[in-house]
Amino acid sequence: MMTSVSSLLQSIVLVSLWYSANQYKGISIYVLGNIFSCLSFVGFLLRNIFSLPLEVRLVNNLIFVSAILLHSIGIGQFLSRKINYRAWLWCFLLFLFSQVYLVYYFDDYFWRNFSILITIALAYGIGCKYILDTKIINYRVTSLSLAFILAATPLIVIMRLILLLDGQTHSIFTQTFANSFTFLSMFIIDFLRNGFFVLMVSQRMYSELHEVAEMDFLTQVFNRGATARRINKYLGGKTQTDVTLILLDIDYFKKINDTYGHDAGDQVLRDVARVLESALTFPELLGRWGGEEFIIFLPNCSAREARDRAELFRYNVETQNVYYVLQPLSCTLSLGVVTAPRHQVDLDELLKRADIALYQAKRNGRNRAEFVIIP
Ligand code: GH3
Ligand code: MG
Ligand code: MG
Repeated sequence: MMTSVSSLLQSIVLVSLWYSANQYKGISIYVLGNIFSCLSFVGFLLRNIFSLPLEVRLVNNLIFVSAILLHSIGIGQFLSRKINYRAWLWCFLLFLFSQVYLVYYFDDYFWRNFSILITIALAYGIGCKYILDTKIINYRVTSLSLAFILAATPLIVIMRLILLLDGQTHSIFTQTFANSFTFLSMFIIDFLRNGFFVLMVSQRMYSELHEVAEMDFLTQVFNRGATARRINKYLGGKTQTDVTLILLDIDYFKKINDTYGHDAGDQVLRDVARVLESALTFPELLGRWGGEEFIIFLPNCSAREARDRAELFRYNVETQNVYYVLQPLSCTLSLGVVTAPRHQVDLDELLKRADIALYQAKRNGRNRAEFVIIP
């Protein structure tokens, strides 16, 4: 009774998850699985109250096992795994045949249980493999917790089979330790599996939203806010090294817009971002500071190295043609470069100095870098 009510309540929560996160594949299948499992628990309850024909028992078991298969398929789809639907269908058909045989031709309670429990263990084992095979960075904690719950299910299955060996249990309704153990475990597993599934979906939604909020839509590099936050974090770090900040601006960018149109300007911005990015290694970072201005932050970069790096960025952009509607466009950069010991400066100070150096580069003829060293 408790397992049925709990399953029904969880299904209601999961249906609302389906509505609120319908951009992801797999949730509908998982939720359908839970509705099936709720139906099968209600079926168990009715079988306990009324004496129902054999066919009802068979259908009840089929719904119960289908629910398990749907859970794993749903998880696989959510994680964009390649799903072998034919193998899943075979698994279901094999289970169906075994149940028909064990109900009509060889009516044996232990072997009927064996067939159900082995199918559950197999299905959740595959569900677990779907999670472990996925390289998840953003929602690892919740997905691994879900994998743990799926992996625990086969252990419970084995435990039930061992408990059934004493021969005391002849139906799911006899009051034996094997049955109490099974219903309590199903209750706990159902609750935790659904809980971690909901958490996994919400953690994924949060991380994707966070990612979008940190990116500049046009150039797909960090936006101003994310750039400032990340630089501040580095500057607050413990190691004593020199840091270099480059504020750069595309020369005569307005002319590109005026001559070729705004779309061409956008394409130039995207390409400049790609060219700059290709000369960076982690944890160096590139951000769009606004309009046609970018920031490059190089932690652990001395004044001497800064000269080479700035020259490389300038050269790469100057020599790279951007093709817009088959016509080659080119542009150049002016760069203001400031190097300082990490603990002596804050971001405002670095920006102020870099801005003065950039202005100097513009005044000195553009397509060049000017350098400032803060001792
Ligand atoms: P300077 O060499 O002195 O930097 O000259 P400039 O023409 O590059 O500078 P100015 O500040 O006069 O013009 C910048 C232009 O950048 C004006 C603005 O319309 C354009 N711009 C800013 N953001 C975008 C954008 O997202 N897309 C496009 N296409 N243009 C942009
Ligand atoms: Mg400019
Ligand atoms: Mg500008």
